[in-house]
Amino acid sequence: MRIARYVADDGDPSYGIVELAEDAGGHPDTIAAISGDPLAGPVKYTGERHALDDIRLVSPVIPRSKVVAIGKNYAAHAAEFNSTVPTEPLAFLKPNTSVIGPGEPILYPPETSDLHFEGELAIVIGRICRRVPAERAAEVIFGYTIANDVTCRDLQAKDRQWSRAKGYDTFCPLGPWISTHLSLDEVAQLEISTTLNGQARQASDTSLMVYPIPRLIEFVTSFTTLLPGDVILTGTPEGVGPMQPGDSVSVQITGLGTLTNPVVAES
Ligand code: MG
Repeated sequence: MRIARYVADDGDPSYGIVELAEDAGGHPDTIAAISGDPLAGPVKYTGERHALDDIRLVSPVIPRSKVVAIGKNYAAHAAEFNSTVPTEPLAFLKPNTSVIGPGEPILYPPETSDLHFEGELAIVIGRICRRVPAERAAEVIFGYTIANDVTCRDLQAKDRQWSRAKGYDTFCPLGPWISTHLSLDEVAQLEISTTLNGQARQASDTSLMVYPIPRLIEFVTSFTTLLPGDVILTGTPEGVGPMQPGDSVSVQITGLGTLTNPVVAES
């Protein structure tokens, strides 16, 4: 199942189930409205339907408490900064106020001159959890989506810690929807790629993660409680690079869709 949040006719955001022509055939890509919050309990179809082209998707989830991100989780990305992979997962936090949805602008702040994209697989947590052993990780996962871990590379080096460089408003695009039907094994071997203005920049595979998803959940929940709707970013592969105002950046993961955002100078 693919769960999205959307706005139709400038109303309030609603949850909906995305039905793609590639799955069912015979109809255009559609979204079927559901009532309630799928992260909180059972939902019902309301009967309302829209063509996907007629609505505006927003972030499929607003993390209840935090986005926990993992650094240097692909060896080739660590190597492009003359670094090595850490001996245990490296975690940092992005505030939930950094989250935006598909199509919403990434704002280029005046304090940077080196703003980078980082395409990543994102895990959406489904249950309150702490100290989850790796072998039980699947029990706390609601689904998967795509993220762009937007980073001011110059401020990251200058500040030494990463709160500002990765925490600006708009620095965590998520979407286009949450896929809940994939198994851990399936998600462990998906092609991930990033394009800038249609030109290939990153191309890798989630099988190249240094620490796989179950280990990341075990590690993150060893120090913090995760709430339903919290998000874990699993790290970016090699090929990160700068964006400029006017650019369009797209992160694609096979089976999860494409997350596209424009870059706009912060005014
Ligand atoms: Mg990252």
